[in-house]
Formats: sequence, C-alpha cells, structure tokens
Amino acid sequence: MASHPHPEATVPQRLRILLISSEVEPFAKTGGLADVAGALPKALAGLGHDVRVLMPKYRGVERHAGSLTPVIPRVQVPIADRRAEGAWIEGRMGAGIPIYFLAQDQYYDRDALYGTSEGDYWDNCERFIFFCRAAVEGLKHLGWIPHVIHANDWQSGLVPVYLETLYRDDPALAKIATLFTVHNLAYQGVFWHYDVPMTGLGWDLFTPAGIEYYGKLNFLKGGLVFGDLLTTVSRTYAREIQTPEFGCGLEGVLLARSAALHGVVNGIDYEVWNPASDPAIPKGYTADDLKGKRACKAALQEELGLAQEPVPLVGMVTRLVEQKGLTLVLDALPGLLAEGVQLALLGSGEPALEQAFGDAAAKHAGRVAVRLGYDAGLARRIYAGADCFLMPSRYEPCGLGQLISLRYGTIPLVRWTGGLADTVKEFDPAKQAGTGFGFAPFTHEALLECARRALAVFRQPRLWQRLMRNAMAEDFSWEASAREYVSLYRKAVKAAAS
Ligand code: ADP
Repeated sequence: MASHPHPEATVPQRLRILLISSEVEPFAKTGGLADVAGALPKALAGLGHDVRVLMPKYRGVERHAGSLTPVIPRVQVPIADRRAEGAWIEGRMGAGIPIYFLAQDQYYDRDALYGTSEGDYWDNCERFIFFCRAAVEGLKHLGWIPHVIHANDWQSGLVPVYLETLYRDDPALAKIATLFTVHNLAYQGVFWHYDVPMTGLGWDLFTPAGIEYYGKLNFLKGGLVFGDLLTTVSRTYAREIQTPEFGCGLEGVLLARSAALHGVVNGIDYEVWNPASDPAIPKGYTADDLKGKRACKAALQEELGLAQEPVPLVGMVTRLVEQKGLTLVLDALPGLLAEGVQLALLGSGEPALEQAFGDAAAKHAGRVAVRLGYDAGLARRIYAGADCFLMPSRYEPCGLGQLISLRYGTIPLVRWTGGLADTVKEFDPAKQAGTGFGFAPFTHEALLECARRALAVFRQPRLWQRLMRNAMAEDFSWEASAREYVSLYRKAVKAAAS
C-alpha cells in the first residue's frame, strides 16, 4: 500500500491551544467559568502543551499579571461601517502561562464585566462582537497559530462562526480546530436583529440553521452550530440539555449536534482546596486524622451562634437563586429541625430568598444560622466544619460545592441532576461504598427522605467515618479532566485537518 501518513500522525504530541474566555481567575470573575479558565490551562501546561489564554482587558486586571508587553499594538476590526481598534497585551498567569489581554478601553475599562445593578451594559453585543473578531484578527499578527481554539460560553460564541465563514479561506487560520464549551446554557447572549450588521456576517447566516434564534441574534447558538466539537461540564448535563426541560430552547440544535457533544466534568484545584493546609480554617485535618474536623465543627457552631451540641450540622454555600432548589430547603426545614439538624447557610442573591432565610434564622436561633453576602473565609469554614453539604439544585451543569465538600470530608446531599449525579455516589451501608446521598424528584419530601438516610448513617460514628474517608479519597483534581480535553482537542484537530 502507498504510505500516506495516517491522519493521526498529523496531530503533534505538543498541542498549541488558545483558550478564549471572557473571565479568568484571578483576573476577573463572576462565575464558574472563571475558575475553569484559570485552572484548566495550568493542568494542560502540566501535561506538556503550549497553552495560552485570551480575555478582555477589564479595569484592574493588570494587578495580577506581572509586567505587560504589547504584542499586537494595533488590531483593527470593522464594526458595521466603523472601525474599532484595540491591542493585544501579554502578561503571565500562574505557571508562567502567557495570557493575552484584549485592550479596548471604551469597551472594557469599566467598573464591572457585563453590567451594573441597573442591568446589562447597553452595548454588550458590540463589546463581545469586538472580542470575538479581534481574537481571530489578532491571530494573523501574533506569529503563533494554535492547533485548536477552546472558546467558552456566549461571549466567545462568534469565534467559531468567524473561523468557519469570513476567515475560512485565510491560509493561516483555515486549519484551526475549535472546541466550544457551554458552562451554563441559561446565558446565551441574545440581541435584537438590528445588531447583525455589526458582526460583519452575511444575512444568509441569520436563519434557524445559523445564528438566528426566534428572530434574534444568539451568540451561544453560533458556537453550538459552528464549533467543531462541543462540550459541557458534565456528562449528565450534556444529556439533559438535549431535552426541552433543560435545553433553554436550544435542545433542537444540541440534539442535531449530539455526536459532537461531550461532557467533561470540571475539577477543583487540590492545592487551593486542601483541608490539611487551608489557612482559613481553625484546625487542619486529613483522612487519616480527622480530629481537626471536629475542632472545625465546634468553632463553626461558636462563630455562627449555633448550640454546641453533637447534632448533625448541614452546611450550604450558594447563590440564592431559583436554580439552587432553595424553596425545597425552606419547605423541608421543619422536618429537618425535627430530626435535630442544625443548618448553616452562607449566600446572597434574590431578595425574597434572602428574606425567607433571614426569617428562618430569626425564628430558629441557635439551630439555623444564615449569613448573607459573599465571604470566602466563612465558606471554607463551612466546608470544613459541617457534617453534610446540601445542594438540592433544580439543574446543575457541574457544581463545585459538592467537589469541595468531598475534598473536606463533608458529605454531599444532592439532587440527582447534572454534575451532581456524575460526581456523588449514593452510600451503601452494607458495602460501605459510596460518597454521599441523593434524591431525584424535585420535592421537599424527597429531600427529607434523603436527609433521613444520611442521618441514619450519621448516628453510627464508625460507619460515618468510613463514609468521610470514601469522600476524601475521591479525586476531582484537574488532571483527569485536562486529559479528556486533550483527547477531544486531538479529535477536533484531526477532523479539521481532513
Ligand atoms: P454556581 O457557579 O452555579 O454558583 P458552583 O457550585 O459551581 O455554583 O460554584 C459556586 C462557587 O462559589 C463555590 O465555590 C462556592 O463555594 C462559591 N460561593 C457561592 N456563594 C458564595 C458566598 N456567598 N460566599 C463565598 N463563596 C460562595
């Protein structure tokens, strides 16, 4: 046979990867996307890949980036019949990874990332058209062409669209593969059709098969239609979003691209989240020596004004929004208290939920403690000091809270949805296997029944210790997930090359 190189041979060992994200920890963060964009590159670099990151140069990002070098002093992008000009500035993130900040002060030098308490910035569509197009334009001048672009969420959804349309004949860019990740399908970047001309994309793309969504422009849909491969942040969520219940109107698009859609669960940084060395908790501990955890519980009860009793302490650290199943908690509360449970909740969000939990704390002083606001230190003391961690979410793309609580030996009680279903295993007392407890129906009765199963084990201290050790033995560090991404990058590169 003629010896044509096997297509696999064309994918090099060391990949050049450009991760594009509108937020990256520690530079700018509003949600879980920033955690992923901050941690995944380090894990990829650890596997030997040449990974770089691009994000907007929001106000203040340079504080964390070392010295900055303009690598592309001018990048011009047409915005309808105008031109907008920006620059790529290079800094460094952890592990010496290059991070490029797209500077355009009119768009990004503002107090917040996407808007104020009054609502979203009026020009978000333009801001992120510029972000996507200046990403692609910039690559023509960087002197470094990635094998694969990993774009994330709606803010970078047009990147795959540009590469497949306006730039598809550009010899430098034509071979770049794309992987597009959805972190939460509920946020899609939907704008009225009058904004389409700003994209520079032809009206022929503004159809249901393209970037149109019920008469509007939809950035996320662009990524879903044009990305070579698609991922979301757990296998179960990848299945769920192909159904009307979870698909947020895009289930048809996702179903059509089912073969390209994969679930890769998020990890957490095991150095940052480590009960043996966490400086925010009163006493460190390990799976082999859990004494410190008892001290953390006593200190947490004291800090929050909860009775110092050996009763089960259930913790929650959460945004107070509908998604998180908080009405179930309110409805189950009398039943939980009847079982002798204490509840410690830290969160902020919707005023009605803040009020309801505030009222519950006032009514059940000493047994229910509620702290409203964002408090990274208290969050850690709850992860360490509670016996159980409750996440009864209506939907949960991945969820980080349960991963952190497993690491801290705090037993997750979860609703079986999305990443919760993929990362927590029901404890079987007979086999002494499993890491937590879960329930499926979205009802407070099911939550209570699940809690009762947990409490039955809690009352058997040796069995509970076994369960804690099972939880702490799980490994949700980034390395395994980074390997999964690499194999998908390879698949995308192979597909793009053929
Ligand atoms: P989501 O991204 O939907 O809010 P996740 O479970 O994926 O939910 O991640 C939430 C993260 O934010 C967790 O690390 C959690 O500890 C943290 N967090 C949420 N609310 C607070 C708060 N009020 N104070 C401190 N940390 C919080």
